[in-house]
Amino acid sequence: MKYQKEVDSFMYDVIQHNPGESIFHQAVYEVAETIIPFIIENPKYQGKKIMERIAEPERVILFKIGWKDDKGEVQVNRGFRIEMNSCLGPYKGGLRFHSSVTLDSLKFLAFEQVFKNSLTTLSLGGGKGGSDFSPIGKTDDEIMRFCYAFMSEIYKYIGADTDIPAGDIGVGGREIGYLFGQYKKLTNQFTGVLTGKGLEWGGSLLRPEATGFGVVYFMKQMLETRGLSLKGKRVAVSGFGNVSWGAVTKATEMGAKVITISGPDGYIYDPDGISGEKIDYMLEMRFKNTDKVKDFADKYGVEYIPNKKPWEVEADIALPCAIQNELLKDDAEDIIRNNYICVAEGANMPCTSEAVHLFQKAKLLYSPGKASNAGGVAVSGIEMVQNASHYPYKKEEVDERLKGIMSTIHSNCIKYGKDDTGYIDYLKGANIAGFVKVADAMLDQGIV
Ligand code: GLU
Repeated sequence: MKYQKEVDSFMYDVIQHNPGESIFHQAVYEVAETIIPFIIENPKYQGKKIMERIAEPERVILFKIGWKDDKGEVQVNRGFRIEMNSCLGPYKGGLRFHSSVTLDSLKFLAFEQVFKNSLTTLSLGGGKGGSDFSPIGKTDDEIMRFCYAFMSEIYKYIGADTDIPAGDIGVGGREIGYLFGQYKKLTNQFTGVLTGKGLEWGGSLLRPEATGFGVVYFMKQMLETRGLSLKGKRVAVSGFGNVSWGAVTKATEMGAKVITISGPDGYIYDPDGISGEKIDYMLEMRFKNTDKVKDFADKYGVEYIPNKKPWEVEADIALPCAIQNELLKDDAEDIIRNNYICVAEGANMPCTSEAVHLFQKAKLLYSPGKASNAGGVAVSGIEMVQNASHYPYKKEEVDERLKGIMSTIHSNCIKYGKDDTGYIDYLKGANIAGFVKVADAMLDQGIV
């Protein structure tokens, strides 16, 4: 690759400066591969250490969370908020409650969020937070006590114009409710400090569906670049949480057939397509605090394949919607062998770098999460607008705005990612389009 030496030298410093943070290194590398060459070819961005500054969080808050479980035993967890970049607006990004959460994984997510939020065209900086607390196997009361304890520390740092958390893995409407209740109690303020709120108390219509709907809107446009439509296409989805649920709902509604969903325990194969009541059951599973997709197979008598991933089935489209690095090189080889047309990321960085390079080499339609899953945070931005104006939008209005934003992101990916052969490198396009806005704002605001 042209400028490989410069990319390697940049990465050498990032690795020295952030030892042991391999997921963060991976995310920065995926951006550096396209942005370092872009900076070299665009003198305006040289000499200001812009990429070095974007890769350095503006602030990291790390704290202890003590709470008691139902047996009265003391539990200790670690909480984080990474305030990554505020050039475009207040820090914005979700909270993840999952056993895999570390400083490393949240720095990767916060870094990605900066580019994603920039792509939405809204005025949103980037941040991310969470805890290594896992709601799996916990009771509702335990989750409530944990959320209160988490908010008792984080409330000092967040605010409707400062830093606005939302949901992510392990944090949905229930958790946002408990977090909001505690914020209100501690500050005596009812503000739009969190997004993903309940509809009756400041939430936006379509916020729960937004990430998954956005992925499908984006994927539809990807197919259209090759003159294809979604109708009748077989879609393999991974995960069964919020993003998967939205994606399954919209893909089915638009005439595609979703034939898999998955969990850490394996996947289910439903050749007739997941629809109707089965989609609603995905929501119910969330409230069971389980991470086993087998439950779905038991209920509907569909095939359950333990310890395997969906990509081994024959399908046309892959939507990885579970978690980072779930789709490895071998899985990418399965996808290419099975002649999939399109891979659109619903999760954040679900494909490893090796997998992404294989997709690009095979000229598959491939989009990174920072572009295709930006619908969630985009509707969060729309929730903030509604909160600030104290005026709720209708469902159709939110949906139109979401479609418009996904379409703008798609056009920007083409603008910066289409090569001479006509192939669209969505990763390159998303990186450059996201970078330009942040970099220009940083140049305007000086060295702070
Ligand atoms: N967690 C979601 C994401 O990865 C949504 C963030 C938000 O709404 O602030 O983009």
